Amino acid sequence: MAAPLILWFRKDLRLADNPALHAAVHTGQPVLPVFILDDTLNEASPRTLGAASRWWLHHSLVALGTCLPLVLRRGAPEAVLQDLIAETGASAVFWNRLYEPETISRDSAIKAALKDQGLDVQSFAGRYLAEPHVLKTKAGTMLKVFTPYWKALHAHFEHHPLPDVLPAPDDRAIWFQDMKGDDLANWHLLPTAPDWSSGLGAQWLPGEAGAWARFDQFKDTALDAYKDNRNRPDLPGVSYLSPHLHWGEISVTQLWHATVTHGNSSSHEHFLKELTWRDFSAYLLYHFPTLPDQNWRADFDAFPWKEDPETLKRWQRGMTGYPLVDAGMRQLWATGWMHNRVRMIVASFLVKHMLHPWQVGESWFWDTLVDADPATNPAAWQWVAGCGADAAPYFRIFNPITQADKFDPEGQYIRKWVPELARLPQQFIAQPWAADPLTLHTAGVTLGKTYPTPLIDHKTARARALQAFQSLKK
Ligand code: FAD
Repeated sequence: MAAPLILWFRKDLRLADNPALHAAVHTGQPVLPVFILDDTLNEASPRTLGAASRWWLHHSLVALGTCLPLVLRRGAPEAVLQDLIAETGASAVFWNRLYEPETISRDSAIKAALKDQGLDVQSFAGRYLAEPHVLKTKAGTMLKVFTPYWKALHAHFEHHPLPDVLPAPDDRAIWFQDMKGDDLANWHLLPTAPDWSSGLGAQWLPGEAGAWARFDQFKDTALDAYKDNRNRPDLPGVSYLSPHLHWGEISVTQLWHATVTHGNSSSHEHFLKELTWRDFSAYLLYHFPTLPDQNWRADFDAFPWKEDPETLKRWQRGMTGYPLVDAGMRQLWATGWMHNRVRMIVASFLVKHMLHPWQVGESWFWDTLVDADPATNPAAWQWVAGCGADAAPYFRIFNPITQADKFDPEGQYIRKWVPELARLPQQFIAQPWAADPLTLHTAGVTLGKTYPTPLIDHKTARARALQAFQSLKK
């Protein structure tokens, strides 16, 4: 058999529209598909995979492994690749590019070393609509605000249209067979003691087929009304594609083309904008590598944050006494996902009502979200906290009661995730403390016993947050 080509799968766990796979198959060489669990990168960086991400990765690898003879290896990628080259006589290594700062330096070093050895090493773009080094202001500087970024993307597309979707390899693809790899079970990606993942299993189908099932459902039932319904956590108004996109089980190129083909209403455009926010977050991380832990706006370094393990725990467990916040935190814990509107509300609550540093919330999300993303997560937390690029102004402090009235008007979302309040009448569902004793009694609610009293009064919290913010200006 001819010397194989190693195809290094990373966050591109799909067959269709996979540029590295497409190019690999077209060389005519036998293709050895590999996934490497990169412990060294994780050791070198504080970003070990979160628990929910590990769960997702396990199932996504199972799904991919049913389509091709995927070889699993664990270790430093440079060492693993060298082992594979020695074992098989491979003459080429292909992969799709990633853009986190540590990954870029690691991959560049690997590419240089393998090229020095005479291997054909090629990397491909396929993760974003535009690679993060591409778009710039007219003056050649970084774009710091979303709307100009969106316009620059469109201007870019005029000269460099988004590529067509690449087909999945047909049955003639020659896979390099019979390579020994690790047993996935030995990677222990799934939780065991305790196994908290049943809610994730009920909600998600990781893998390429699951991603398309989600998209098809979204297209048939929600895309046309996306602009109106995307802010409603009580409705199935969004795509639920974020973890699939994160692991590259479906590509943003596929989604863009499928959306444009489906229609051109303001809802379609809005969905394309949200996909572009994903690109913009990656762009911010690329140009500001300390985004995951340092304030984008350095003046926030002097903010008088108050760390407090007790209130943090109540937030994490969905026991703040604010039903909408608690509903969101419990949805996150049960399913590994939370609605975007509620993510903003719970993040604002932690950072502004409780004055916890945004990094504390970002870490919790990192561990519990199935879509935890090293660019989007810190970018969004910094946006909510007011210290990020193009951020929400600090004084925009979400009121969890009026937000519930507006975006969960019948209280269905709260009733689902905070069932101990389910029997309260609508006007009290987001503020049970406002109900009279008889109403509470009839609904089976005893504040402080069956459901907590609020951690802090909203008006007091708001005044305190604004005062803290004022102290920055001084
Ligand atoms: P849809 O509304 O269907 O949007 C389609 C896709 O667009 C999403 O899958 C996502 O890839 C992208 N997108 C949507 N909103 C945003 C946004 N605000 N910023 C960047 N991309 C966006 N998203 C993540 O993928 N990973 C994270 O770790 C993450 N952390 C977040 C933390 C906070 C505090 C907040 C406020 C938002 C965060 N988001 C994150 C963004 C957003 O909440 C999710 O992408 C969205 O809720 C996923 O649901 P969906 O796929 O149904 O979204």
